[in-house]
Amino acid sequence: MSDELEKERWTRRGFLGASSAALAAGMMASNNAVGQGQDSPKAKSDRSRSEPVPKNSALDAENVDSVNPPPTDAGGVQTFKYPFSLAHKRLHEGGWSREVTVRELAVSKTLAGVNMRLTAGGVRELHWHTAAEWAYMLYGTARITCIDADGKSFVTDVKEGDLWYFPPGIPHSIQGLPPDGTEFLLVFDDGNFSEYETVLLSDWMAHTPRDVVAKNFVVPQAAVEVMPKKELFIFQAEVPGPLGEDQKRAAGALGPSPIDFAFRTMQQPPNKRTKGGEVRIIDSSTFKIAQNIAAPLVTLKPGGLRELHWHPNADEWQFYISGKARMTVFATGGRARTMDFETGDVGYVLKTLPHYIENTGNTDLKFLEMFKSSYYQDLALSEWLTHTPPELVTAHLNLDQATLDALPRGKAVILPE
Ligand code: MN
Ligand code: MN
Repeated sequence: MSDELEKERWTRRGFLGASSAALAAGMMASNNAVGQGQDSPKAKSDRSRSEPVPKNSALDAENVDSVNPPPTDAGGVQTFKYPFSLAHKRLHEGGWSREVTVRELAVSKTLAGVNMRLTAGGVRELHWHTAAEWAYMLYGTARITCIDADGKSFVTDVKEGDLWYFPPGIPHSIQGLPPDGTEFLLVFDDGNFSEYETVLLSDWMAHTPRDVVAKNFVVPQAAVEVMPKKELFIFQAEVPGPLGEDQKRAAGALGPSPIDFAFRTMQQPPNKRTKGGEVRIIDSSTFKIAQNIAAPLVTLKPGGLRELHWHPNADEWQFYISGKARMTVFATGGRARTMDFETGDVGYVLKTLPHYIENTGNTDLKFLEMFKSSYYQDLALSEWLTHTPPELVTAHLNLDQATLDALPRGKAVILPE
């Protein structure tokens, strides 16, 4: 590790406030006990952590906690980070797509994600799949369509921050709108999901005998010979007309679906707001159709901490929308690993494993926690320790009464409160 990185690391720790300062002080005290404080002559001459051979300095700078793990990290913990930057990008006229699944990130068995861009008019073609699809709009505007299980149509426009949810087998499409189309995140309730294995309208038609299609459409075969010979997946089309017109024509005599497949996230007030940030929890209690994916959207201010906690009911799939973070996952049996995250990274935490997320940058950190569940559930260290007989807690951790009294009384969610 370079001297600059080392310096940046300690500067960052110093900036992070009381809890990190206390941790650093504790580390230095224990190091000093054996005469190896960072300023001691012995420490200065210690070459144990040096890297004489140059490495990928850009990656090293983004992953300081892997290059130089905190002393509390230990043992082998399966990697729980994969940046979308490393995913293969499928390029088409009209947009692109890339996925992070269990094939890219081996630990992520319950959920997978796709990052997609569509130009104004660009279409992710009519399709469906066996997994449920939950989406978060990262940029721009889009028109989404589907039909419900009764065949009734749903057409709406979505903007940055909005969500949608399509259950398994429900056919749907997405199209970018002016001025500059859209970029969004899709999350699927199956780590093994693949964008390469969906039922596409054009692909299906290309692999059905044309005379059968003609018979099905009740038209002469010549009328269907014009259909594409292979899948479109993403393609450039004209920008669609007014929403009301599309809704009317899709509804036909049946009328529109009574189900709202979209959700206006920012119209829901935060479930929790503290000095350190805020969280909005979207699950089937507020977004009724989202029966198998629950998602808190978290904003942490610089130095803010998503408190030490765990989830009894499901694995956590994370997407970092903006800012910089670090997360330590305690993986039992004396094993723990800390990894660093920034915009476009996917993180993952197995069900019940304790973790925290800390904003390590100087801008707001915004990220999604995703769960394969109809409801959101977590337990926090503070609520555990403040609802256990205090003598019992003291007997474990040697904490004095003043420290126990200072703990947040229950779930803080985001610190400082
Ligand atoms: Mn889809
Ligand atoms: Mn969590």
